[in-house]
Amino acid sequence: MKLIENKILEDGKIINNDILKVDNFLNHQIDLNIIDEYAKEVKKFFKEEKIDKVLTIETSGIAVAYAVCESLGKVPLLFAKKSKSMIVDSNVYSTEIKSFTKNFVSTVTVNKNYLQSGQNILIVDDFLAEGNAALGLIDLCHQAGANVVGFATVIEKGFQGGRKKIENLGVKVFSGAIIKAFENNKPTF
Ligand code: 5GP
Repeated sequence: MKLIENKILEDGKIINNDILKVDNFLNHQIDLNIIDEYAKEVKKFFKEEKIDKVLTIETSGIAVAYAVCESLGKVPLLFAKKSKSMIVDSNVYSTEIKSFTKNFVSTVTVNKNYLQSGQNILIVDDFLAEGNAALGLIDLCHQAGANVVGFATVIEKGFQGGRKKIENLGVKVFSGAIIKAFENNKPTF
């Protein structure tokens, strides 16, 4: 989407040549015009699919997922929680997800009552990098026997390999913008 590419070029800051900071419209302050337009494109991309629920991960995925749920006609939004407790509740599905930006592994859970066998789930997140968050959320769906309809992200860093891992599981991927590379401290698309 040109709208997102332009916003990245205007506001994005590259950190350590592998992280893009877009706090002005996605990760701190949120521009509703942008995420609403993004959500409309998600709806178009997955128009053939039946979607019962959107699954994301706290925190940055939630606002984007909310916009997508609205555009899909107010389907429920479920967010996986990053657990801090060592004692994992027995009524949850849980998985381990390595954080791309913080370099640690979190236990991530969803309550079994909210993710159920046969449900058609669209997974949404703000960024796609190496695909660990997406793979963890897909794993939670598989544990529940739910069907993963697709994965939608606002910004994909195409050079970090996440898409292939998700597509290898037979899951379709939609991205609002795909960054090909960071060249001379500028994203290229
Ligand atoms: P992955 O699990 O695909 O390696 O990374 C995706 C997750 O890490 C997303 O949930 C996102 O919050 C975070 N992330 C990865 N790369 C970036 C980035 O360049 N900028 C920001 N703000 N978050 C990122």
